Amino acid sequence: MDLNRRRFFELAAGAGMLPILQGCQTASRKSQTTQSSDLTLERLERAAGAPVLHLDGLDSPLVIQSIELLRKGRDSFVRVRSKDGAEGVALTNGREQYLYPILNKLVIPYFIGKDARDLEEHLWGVYRHRSNYKLQGLALWCPLAWVEFAVLDMIGRVTGKSIGQLFGGVIRREVDFYVASGRRDSTPEEEVDYLGELIEETGAKAVKFRVGGRMSKNADAMPGRTEGLIPLARKALGDKIALHADANSSYDPPKAIEIGRMLEDIGAVYFEEPCPFDHLEDTKKVTDALTIPVAGGEQEFSPRRFRWMIYNRGVDIVQPDLHYYGGLIRSTRVARMAAVAGMPTTVHISGGFGFIYMLHFASYTRDIGLYQEYKRNIERYTNWFDPPLKINDGALTVPQGSGVGIRDIKGLLKDARPAVYS
Ligand SMILES: [Mg+2]
Repeated sequence: MDLNRRRFFELAAGAGMLPILQGCQTASRKSQTTQSSDLTLERLERAAGAPVLHLDGLDSPLVIQSIELLRKGRDSFVRVRSKDGAEGVALTNGREQYLYPILNKLVIPYFIGKDARDLEEHLWGVYRHRSNYKLQGLALWCPLAWVEFAVLDMIGRVTGKSIGQLFGGVIRREVDFYVASGRRDSTPEEEVDYLGELIEETGAKAVKFRVGGRMSKNADAMPGRTEGLIPLARKALGDKIALHADANSSYDPPKAIEIGRMLEDIGAVYFEEPCPFDHLEDTKKVTDALTIPVAGGEQEFSPRRFRWMIYNRGVDIVQPDLHYYGGLIRSTRVARMAAVAGMPTTVHISGGFGFIYMLHFASYTRDIGLYQEYKRNIERYTNWFDPPLKINDGALTVPQGSGVGIRDIKGLLKDARPAVYS
């Protein structure tokens, strides 16, 4: 450990003298999200079903002429063009390398010739088109998310509105983030060293580390790692750093509750995906037992199962993935249901541009929880935006400008070529 790192840990350890769980920003907020007694399925359905986009000013058809998958360097793009020359662009999340046939054969053909103003209805139309619903899951919804992001960008550029304005208005220009470790190959000591590096590098005030073994039927990634890491993280990082833990579906309810209690003891912000992700009843058992909020939903693709989770308080925080769940419109419908129940929506993000779409979602969604995920690649994209993206004191700035906010998409895509995968 170098001297700066050692100094960091000394300071953090000093902060560790402060009592935790006393209403500081890192503490659990489960108690603040009491369920409304008049919560009904009908209210949730109504909230989810209401129109999402604000398209005033878009008076004439915006007919989609082409949608292409392009590649430039390490980035893949979906570009949409209208008959009258408008365009918009999305960045994919890496899964296009094997999902491109679904995009090209089952999704793009549906959209050609359609009016982009009817985007909300098209999400249902393309789901029915050629029985696409039989493919649902991220294989279908990622390609749809790319098209949705690109069409929203185009609509924003045509109307001069940011994504936040299209979704009803910008209420937030900076978003507090946590940086996620993503590792399980580390000992507790190595992991807290690594988390310290991430904090130093990004200025984050919050981190997320992994517990359990990932879909592992209670097995740990290495013996004793989780039980060692949880208290050590608090001790080494101090009380000013907000901690999140993700089990990636590792546990049955008894083990999840045992680990959850340890997370309560360190005042963690939430406990993510404690049980197998589709075992909603087991997840609810854990949610019912713990005082720490339980978060989940990153693998979910069904609006009705989200409705179940919200109505039955299967989790305390819902986490649709902006790519896997099919884009901003569908995720916003989940957030609207969650809002009826007084629950936050903290979206899960895929890599690449995922954090950009997260920032836009956060710009217009009232209750996003305390911290949003950031995967540490801002430098790659900073200057695509005007003003450039920035990190201020543990918060990311929301891109400004029309659509997604890319300053010059013609320049950006000048050398891009049709993507070919083998
Ligand atoms: Mg997760």
